[in-house]
Amino acid sequence: MVGLKDRIDEVESRIAAACARAGRRRDEVTLLAVTKVFPAQVILDAHAAGLREFGENYVQEFETKAPLVSGLDGARFHLIGHLQSNKSRRAGELFQVVQTVDSGKLARRLNECCRPLEVMIEVKLSTEESKYGCEPANLPQVVDEVRACPNLTLTGLMTMPPWSDDAEASRPYFARLRQLAAAHGLSQLSMGMSHDLETAIEEGSTMVRVGTALFGSRKRA
Ligand SMILES: *Cc1c(COP(=O)(O)O)cnc(C)c1O
Repeated sequence: MVGLKDRIDEVESRIAAACARAGRRRDEVTLLAVTKVFPAQVILDAHAAGLREFGENYVQEFETKAPLVSGLDGARFHLIGHLQSNKSRRAGELFQVVQTVDSGKLARRLNECCRPLEVMIEVKLSTEESKYGCEPANLPQVVDEVRACPNLTLTGLMTMPPWSDDAEASRPYFARLRQLAAAHGLSQLSMGMSHDLETAIEEGSTMVRVGTALFGSRKRA
């Protein structure tokens, strides 16, 4: 059986190779370990193996793991799943970063938690019904509304292209996100997952969100 350390090494070498091809420094890209569905022990193991940035999709699920992992030295937890406004207060308490802000209303709810919070705006670039995120046409307004929230620090944009097993299919979505971020003076781009992280890095990603390639496939509950 391939262990976690080997998988981390494998992902690390993919990231390093993509950075080299794109003429970028390795330290321009953060590896976010996506631990949704896996037990808290997986976060403890990944932290022991050197990972520090973790992504979770569900407030309720992370609530049960947080007491076991929130004290880990240097660890930061990012919410990368859709956030309903009635869970925003709890999310603001549990996470250091919320990557899925998609409206001014949600931003103001998070701002009311009265704790400094780093946020990104999720942009919906595909027409798939199931995808959340702010419509590109509304982005200028949402950026302004987030920036008007004193407790929130807006660092960048996040997106999730329609799923395809061809990594090249993601490229136009990644390029579009980069253009939108540049237009708003935002430096962080959360884009790229297990199957298309190389394409994302070539298109300027500063954070790849990797689950399967690190922890194996997620069993459906
Ligand atoms: C699950 C998930 C990931 C990780 O996907 P993998 O294909 O397992 O690497 C990344 N981003 C978001 C938003 C996710 O929900």
